[in-house]
Amino acid sequence: MIYLDNAATSFPKPRRVCEEQMRCMQYYCGNPGRGSHALSMAAAEKIYECREEAASFFGSSHPENVIFTLNTTMSLNLAIKGLLHHGDHVLISDMEHNAVWRPIELLSQRGIITYDVFSTYDPTRQRSAAEICGSILEKVRANTRMLICAHASNICSAALPLAEIGALCRKKGILFVVDAAQSAGHLPIDVEGMQIDALCVPGHKGLLGPQGTGMLLLADGLRAQTLIEGGSGYHSLDAAMPQDSPERYEAGTLPTPAIAGLLEGIREVRRRSIGAIFKHEQALNSRLTSRLAAMDGITIYAPHHVGSVLLFNLEGIPSERVAEELNARGFCVRAGFHCAALAHKTLGTPPTGAIRLSPSLSNTVEHVDAFAEAVAQIQICGGTF
Ligand code: PMP
Repeated sequence: MIYLDNAATSFPKPRRVCEEQMRCMQYYCGNPGRGSHALSMAAAEKIYECREEAASFFGSSHPENVIFTLNTTMSLNLAIKGLLHHGDHVLISDMEHNAVWRPIELLSQRGIITYDVFSTYDPTRQRSAAEICGSILEKVRANTRMLICAHASNICSAALPLAEIGALCRKKGILFVVDAAQSAGHLPIDVEGMQIDALCVPGHKGLLGPQGTGMLLLADGLRAQTLIEGGSGYHSLDAAMPQDSPERYEAGTLPTPAIAGLLEGIREVRRRSIGAIFKHEQALNSRLTSRLAAMDGITIYAPHHVGSVLLFNLEGIPSERVAEELNARGFCVRAGFHCAALAHKTLGTPPTGAIRLSPSLSNTVEHVDAFAEAVAQIQICGGTF
């Protein structure tokens, strides 16, 4: 199979990521932070090493503010539910994933918050940072407490100017929460330079780590309510969770082998360099865009944004049907709505959704050429398979 679904999760994982997980389970997998014996300490040290690597990778000088979670969704839920209060107003972008839209909608339905959606997307051209900030300002209210946006969309290659949005939020006293599910490991992120208050990151996508890993990087001095409570390995006689980060937010045993693997994933991204990774993905997508654009009856969405993700449809064939045919021909892609109702509405895809392709460094020009051939064959069959 040729895997072109890296926006869902990256595959295959680098050899070092796999080997370190195995090594951890064989040689140093005591319960981290639970006890002072050698294997518990070794596990805790490995986890701290990963915190330090992640903090430095994302421009934070506070490794203790790197909180391990299961995935981006959990990081977003912790930031949203942990930082918002009754009566707050929230701004979210028109490109959000359900990992943002659903918890925000739920809090709104419960009467806890109100929210508005700001516009970032233009179907004909890339909007400037000033225009996007202008559309945010139109929606800011006196009680706006948080702005949440996806750095990069999960259904097309549109990306937002974080530094400018961060500066605007700081000026207005608004908490800036960034969903980096599609940008971590693809685009540079500097939490302190970009004035990000909460960065929500998957370990299992662009950072090349195992599934079951995610992180929340909180700005220094920001304290959130906890999402879960339980054992933290210290202050065991207290009824309340500790005040200190990260223990406050990490109740229960952490997945040490997965975090050890994630550490190797981040190191691999550093070795390959973000710039080289993104350039490669861009080159593959731009080659495929020109090949698909030369065929009749193909709609490419947001073709003016060329990055890690490409979205398209074949006229008259539902996207899920095309994905089934591609799977039968040896290609893994995802069709439908990609858990992103708001973003699909913004792009104006039909009721049958669209087909998403997200190559990685493991893919080659031959892969995308073969993919274009397969699409042409499916089109000739016209849905009558
Ligand atoms: N936000 C965006 C923009 C995403 O693309 C995804 C994954 N599709 C998520 C959030 C959720 O990520 P995770 O699966 O790591 O929870």
